[in-house]
Amino acid sequence: MSVEQIPPAAKHIVIVGGGYVGMYTALRLQRRLRRELRRGEVAVTVVDPQSYMTYQPFLPEAAAGNLEPRHVVAPLRKVLKRCRVLNGHVVGISAERRVALVHPAGSDPGPEGWDGVGASGEARVQEVPYDRLVIALGSISRTLPIPGLAECGIGFKTVEEAIYLRNHVLHQLDIAASNDDPEVRRRALTFVFVGGGFAGVEALAELEDMARDACRWYPSVRHEDMRWMMVEAADRILPEVGPEMGRWTVEALRGRGIEVKLETLLKTAEGGHIVLSDGESFDAGTLVWTAGVKPHPMLKRTDLPLDEKGRVKATAELAVEGLPDVYAAGDNARVPDLSGFGEFTAPNAQHAVRQARTLGDNIAADLHGKPLTPYKHAYVGSVASLGLHKGVANVYGLKLRGVVAWFMHRTYHLSRMPTVNRKFRVALDWSLALFFRREIVSLGELSSPRAEFELATEHRPKDG
Ligand SMILES: Cc1cc2nc3c(=O)[nH]c(=O)nc-3n(C[C@H](O)[C@H](O)[C@H](O)COP(=O)(O)OP(=O)(O)OC[C@H]3O[C@@H](n4cnc5c(N)ncnc54)[C@H](O)[C@@H]3O)c2cc1C
Repeated sequence: MSVEQIPPAAKHIVIVGGGYVGMYTALRLQRRLRRELRRGEVAVTVVDPQSYMTYQPFLPEAAAGNLEPRHVVAPLRKVLKRCRVLNGHVVGISAERRVALVHPAGSDPGPEGWDGVGASGEARVQEVPYDRLVIALGSISRTLPIPGLAECGIGFKTVEEAIYLRNHVLHQLDIAASNDDPEVRRRALTFVFVGGGFAGVEALAELEDMARDACRWYPSVRHEDMRWMMVEAADRILPEVGPEMGRWTVEALRGRGIEVKLETLLKTAEGGHIVLSDGESFDAGTLVWTAGVKPHPMLKRTDLPLDEKGRVKATAELAVEGLPDVYAAGDNARVPDLSGFGEFTAPNAQHAVRQARTLGDNIAADLHGKPLTPYKHAYVGSVASLGLHKGVANVYGLKLRGVVAWFMHRTYHLSRMPTVNRKFRVALDWSLALFFRREIVSLGELSSPRAEFELATEHRPKDG
């Protein structure tokens, strides 16, 4: 939707990023400013390259085939009926000139990346002026300059990565089942995950569970033939559930035959040849990098105040320091933790959703000339799924494991999933799984859907 359609007199609220913070802030504003939006006194624009918000805690279940990937995303245009959705990358922000620079969807990045120049060399940046701005860009994978990582590794933050990994893992079983060469089989059946936080542990545990289940359809592949490994630099995994449950998780994964290497680093991964700091080296067909996140690098192309980690410095009221018209929350913001749990709030969905609520209320209060409320929430703990009927949880100090924790994980996240429509679809996916075994087909062509057609056009007869 074009920004020209904004009523000229309207106060324009621009939300940069339509993830947790972006979508929930816009939802809150829809509710709080209903009258002003209807009368055209206020307009809200959400800018995101994607037209959907991803419910990331369900990505491991989507990768494992327990949930249909489309059901773990919420379509922004359907959810935000009174807002404008502008698809494109925000490539810069000038708080001084009160504009966000947007590279709209459909134009290729220039040779320098998203520098505002299309492939044709034509400048494609749209200036989107704002009265209030929300910075909700989230984070990206924090990588290290490890040789081979960029070529062989994959992250686990997006629904596309979850779909890819599911197909890729099943394809490795196809390779192993179709080859006699022990080297080829060993490589295909070796899966390495680096980084033992939420994303890494859940993705590893869910995919291993799926692959183990799939083995029944591959007579020449036994689950003992597979090698699944978690490599973690620290001396514990899953810090989100506390030390005791973290230790329990290590034992539970090891009990399933998964290798958990603590205090170990990935040194190199050139050509898929993994070298670890404990001296071990081997070939792997799969390398998943989930070793933490860092604030979105686009923030460096702004005149916003950033801390040494690259986060936008926000006040407890979620306004950006020194810029009362600009707000920030979620993974890309440094927000003081008034609950006393830590100095600043941790990058997780629990804070992102609650901060979005406070943020929406504060922007409405700001427009109505009322005082802002500081954000305060004490972290209540976490739940994690470790495969079908397996989980671990530490909520309000209550430590749970196994099927009870898994059930809690499902009910908690189902209750948090945005929109009734998506809640229903997720519940339906789980209900169907009670009666049918999960799908184990690998749709490998999804990663190169045009390959067959390109081959066909290459071989077309020249003389018709
Ligand atoms: C696999 C996985 C599992 C997780 N599980 C849990 C869990 O169980 N519990 C928990 O509390 N947390 C969990 N988290 C963390 C949680 O999902 C994040 O903390 C949360 O998404 C942060 O919200 P956000 O709005 O800051 O960022 P996001 O939700 O990531 O939103 C950022 C948005 O910005 C958009 N964007 C990116 N670049 C641009 C650009 N240039 N211009 C405009 N828009 C842009 C993106 O498309 C995205 O929509 C998990 C994360 C992952 C990856």
